[in-house]
Amino acid sequence: MRIEPGTRPLIATGNRGKFAEFSALLSPYRVILTSLADLGLGEPEETERSFAGNALLKARAGAKASAMLTLADDSGLEVEALCGAPGIYTADWAEGINGRNFGRAMEKTWGMVQATRAPAPRKASFCCTLALVDPKGRHQIFEGRASGQIVWPPRGGLGHGYDPIFMPDGYSKTFGEIDEATKNKISHRADAFAKLIEECFT
Ligand code: IMP
Repeated sequence: MRIEPGTRPLIATGNRGKFAEFSALLSPYRVILTSLADLGLGEPEETERSFAGNALLKARAGAKASAMLTLADDSGLEVEALCGAPGIYTADWAEGINGRNFGRAMEKTWGMVQATRAPAPRKASFCCTLALVDPKGRHQIFEGRASGQIVWPPRGGLGHGYDPIFMPDGYSKTFGEIDEATKNKISHRADAFAKLIEECFT
């Protein structure tokens, strides 16, 4: 699916951290991004059992509500010692009565990793699946991954979500300590975007 300069795609996420990364990653391609908030829309409930299923569900809902070309992602953290958890439940692990609390989610992750007695390095990957849906309902999926390890205690105040406890392979800093421009070259979202850009913009 080609995306022409001047296109106004809807980015179907309610997560401001993700929207900022989408904006930075697409900034060279002269597209004008619209957010769900711009249209007064919310995200649908994620009822599928895979990153691809949930990304497609979010993109389809956005495209149906807006009649716009819509891009959505579903992403999460897979920890090897936890057999891939939290996976599609990564955001849910942060859910609390007063909204999302990623400090608690990181503590839960670390507590469970420790309970397995897995030795360092505690291998993990961030995964990102992008779904692009056009107003006619045609779709394409792009998948990306960043490999690394879980570290404790959390380090750095940059980024979002679980960034302070994820150290990507080849770095001695966590995503929480790595500047945005570097993260946007090496992240799971950057990997998925590279595939989308190859297909849609080049
Ligand atoms: P969802 O894709 O909206 O289901 O949410 C995925 C969750 O994974 C987010 O809420 C974050 O907690 C986490 N996540 C995804 N990408 C990143 C990232 O780049 N850094 C830190 N956490 C992330």
